[in-house]
Amino acid sequence: MPSLPKLPTLSAPPDPATVCPPCGKCCRYVAVGIDGPVTVSGVSTALWLVYHRNVSVYQSHDGDWFVLFPADCENLLPNGLCGVYEDRPTLCRDYDVDGCEGTSAEAPEKVRFDDGAALGAWLRSRRPALFARCLAKGILPPFVKGDVPEASAGARGRPGSARAERPRLRPRG
Ligand code: SF4
Ligand code: SF4
Repeated sequence: MPSLPKLPTLSAPPDPATVCPPCGKCCRYVAVGIDGPVTVSGVSTALWLVYHRNVSVYQSHDGDWFVLFPADCENLLPNGLCGVYEDRPTLCRDYDVDGCEGTSAEAPEKVRFDDGAALGAWLRSRRPALFARCLAKGILPPFVKGDVPEASAGARGRPGSARAERPRLRPRG
């Protein structure tokens, strides 16, 4: 979302292309804050999210957790600039070009899971006590536990029961 750092007052609006390399990377996804895989319930929710194709869960460098949906903004122009720049949403105005994914050499996420196997592997190695509690709760299928590769996991059974509660996602910002 080509956003501008704070600049001195100018007589004419600055050209975004001169202060922000208009790569458009920040305009190609939606990220919403979640509680994250730090409890059994959080792991269960994070697994449910990443079981859906093209949905990821990540932790920012500030330690906050988000669900990530790749999706291009309809206002993103082919040249990487914003088609509604003068009237863009507050979220876009507040986005800081300093350290953004288009200008920073650092990975945009601290950790990121694109599927259940990746989340299971992280739990096993980084959160063994939580991994054990999730095992005891019976929410880790073999490919998440690391017992078998996902491709050969075999029959998965029916989707979850109608009693399953979907998480309430907090809007970002
Ligand atoms: S409104 Fe403009 S700045 Fe905001 S996400 Fe869309 S293209 Fe980017
Ligand atoms: S990711 Fe950064 S450099 Fe790229 S368009 Fe967004 S603010 Fe500009």
